[in-house]
Amino acid sequence: MNLEGLITISYIGATILFILSLGGLSNPETARRGNLYGIIGMTIAVLATVSAPRVSNYALIVGAMAIGGSIGILAAIRVKMTQMPELVALMHSLVGLAAAFVGFATYLDPTSHLTGAEKTIHEVEIYVGILIGAVTFSGSVVAFGKLAGKIDGKPLTLPGRHFFNLGLLIVVVLVGKAFLNAPTIQAGMMPLYVMTALSLLFGIHMVMAIGGADMPVVVSMLNSYSGWAASATGFMLSNDLLIVVGALVGSSGAILSYIMCRAMNRQFLSVIAGGFGTGSSTTPSAGAAAQPQGEVVAVTAEETAELLRSAKNVIIVPGYGMAVAQAQHTVFEITKLLREKGVNVRFGIHPVAGRMPGHMNVLLAEAKVPYDIVLEMDEINHDFPQTDVAMVIGANDIVNPSAQDDPNSPIAGMPVLEVWLAKTSIVMKRSMASGYAGVDNPLFYKENNRMLFGDAKKMLDSTLENLRK
Ligand code: NDP
Repeated sequence: MNLEGLITISYIGATILFILSLGGLSNPETARRGNLYGIIGMTIAVLATVSAPRVSNYALIVGAMAIGGSIGILAAIRVKMTQMPELVALMHSLVGLAAAFVGFATYLDPTSHLTGAEKTIHEVEIYVGILIGAVTFSGSVVAFGKLAGKIDGKPLTLPGRHFFNLGLLIVVVLVGKAFLNAPTIQAGMMPLYVMTALSLLFGIHMVMAIGGADMPVVVSMLNSYSGWAASATGFMLSNDLLIVVGALVGSSGAILSYIMCRAMNRQFLSVIAGGFGTGSSTTPSAGAAAQPQGEVVAVTAEETAELLRSAKNVIIVPGYGMAVAQAQHTVFEITKLLREKGVNVRFGIHPVAGRMPGHMNVLLAEAKVPYDIVLEMDEINHDFPQTDVAMVIGANDIVNPSAQDDPNSPIAGMPVLEVWLAKTSIVMKRSMASGYAGVDNPLFYKENNRMLFGDAKKMLDSTLENLRK
């Protein structure tokens, strides 16, 4: 078999492995295997691509892979679990940047001698590829800033912003026409620069307009965009594998966006149009101390242990604070102990808990919590009335009753875990600060709610100690 045939077969093999990988990643039990398929697929894909006859400068490729690989390994070792969502947003931005750079490089390629319709199609690919790449890049950088708390989570709602976006779109189409009609490469550069600048601006404006509460949709949407950017790069480079893999990432990201929208009871287009996540003017900014709205009853770790010991049914609701405190291992120790004593302990996972899709599942899997006691919100929500203790660990927005009771709330309409229906709910957090959406939480003031103030890991360690006594 000649080299070209071998490369084609390798590409088909890699594509199958990527599909199996995505299938595996959809379930915590098979996620490890899915990851392995992905690694093998990517290794095959890279080897097949660099052995193509048109690749000659191996020193450059090895050098770039060594630099990129070292940065990747360092980032993976150093990054804390809580910084994962930011890292993912940064990765998306790199895919976008790469697509834009490949677009410019392809346009300037002196060896390209296309004419007629072929040239036009190629230039449309370049124009669209740079456009998607630039929007993905700047949008992901803003998402990174919002997730890292470096940019205010509140939506930026400029007056007439929809007209502004529409105006940008019209200019991009007109500039595109000028680009396709450009007689020389030099003449085509100016329209490309203008479109790139407008696309960067659009990416910034689009993500700035989306409020904190809707960020899960933004993260999955940018995931999808990065796939389409990779696919566009595949068209520019005439690389079938990149087109297919980009489309796989793009469509799975789009499905994830749909799932996230459903989880938050939002219309995808409304989220993209922005402006959500503001709500009433009394809304405190994320993390700020909310105005007291009543009395809260604080408990100690000892009292918490007592409540757990006398319970028959317990539901644990983990949130972002469990990730911050790295409390998942102690949570599992407590779970084991209670289960040994005959208590029915289960976990209730909200689809947007934490700061990235599947955040809680990853943490609980790391702590080796059995999958059969980890249930999705829809599977467990109706069980709270028969539950003795609902233990909320570092969660806030996902257990906020105002999502159901207050139509003016920024999270109004978002399905939440109804922990207040349990006989007793215990909320474990350090202060009265609000969650990511920046809204006060009436759950804290409910009669059957108890607050266990402190770092979740320390409080759980102490609870465990008391349970063992
Ligand atoms: P929240 O951000 O609503 O609440 C987390 C709570 O954890 C805070 O109120 C904080 O209170 C507490 N906390 C922080 N550190 C600790 C600690 N060390 N020990 C104990 N408690 C701690 O998180 P939820 O998981 O409830 O909800 C997720 C939110 O994030 C939603 O608004 C969602 O829309 C948004 N989001 C989700 C994404 C996703 O893909 N899953 C992506 C982007 C945003 P205190 O400071 O008082 O301790």
